[in-house]
Amino acid sequence: SKFEEADLDPLLIENIALANYATPTPVQKYSIPIVEAGRDLMACAQTGSGKTAGFLFPILNEMFKKGPPAPTSGPGGRNNVVCPMALILSPTRELTSQIYDESKRFAYRSWVKPVVIYGGVPMREQSYNLSRGCDLLVATPGRLVDMMDRGYVSLRHVKYLILDEADRMLDMGFEPQIRRIVEQMDMPPLEERVTLMFSATFPREIQYLARDFLGDYIFLSV
Ligand code: AMP
Repeated sequence: SKFEEADLDPLLIENIALANYATPTPVQKYSIPIVEAGRDLMACAQTGSGKTAGFLFPILNEMFKKGPPAPTSGPGGRNNVVCPMALILSPTRELTSQIYDESKRFAYRSWVKPVVIYGGVPMREQSYNLSRGCDLLVATPGRLVDMMDRGYVSLRHVKYLILDEADRMLDMGFEPQIRRIVEQMDMPPLEERVTLMFSATFPREIQYLARDFLGDYIFLSV
């Protein structure tokens, strides 16, 4: 099958064609209809499986179809502090940068503005980028908690949450930060949020995360 045959927004189809992706990989083929059906996903997939586009395509597709959020004003409104609609957590600077590059490629010519933040560098440039608006945030957990605590970003309105390489994030000791991040999300509640979790392995600790963060989910192994 081809991307043209999937039920995708025309702008996303165009951006996929510009990237020269002709045929969906298995994880891409399955993730789109799962999100479309309003289900959460736990996917065991390795690097090289096309998992990045596997989560970017369904969430960008939903975002393009729904359009930008209505601006709200007043205290706590979206005009005061930046509130991304989609959040992608990933363990390292290198991975977040790769995901950010793919986000820009597939969000091209749309209203969706991606921003990347990671640790080990000064916050100044990243906070400036955030202040100019962010709909899709790609972040390492430690840096995100720092910037959340300093009030540079609010996670109150995250509708799409992706945990990429969840097993590696746990190996690196990020579980407390991940839990603090998810606790900040209160609109919409878990049942209305779309959560996609990707991991190379599926040990007990990952099963607990899935139980705590995912709604009624589909398990996919590719
Ligand atoms: P990933 O597993 O997400 O790290 O992707 C591995 C590589 O495959 C990346 O360089 C992607 O750009 C590329 N890729 C992902 N999906 C496709 C596709 N459907 N067609 C061609 N290349 C792809």
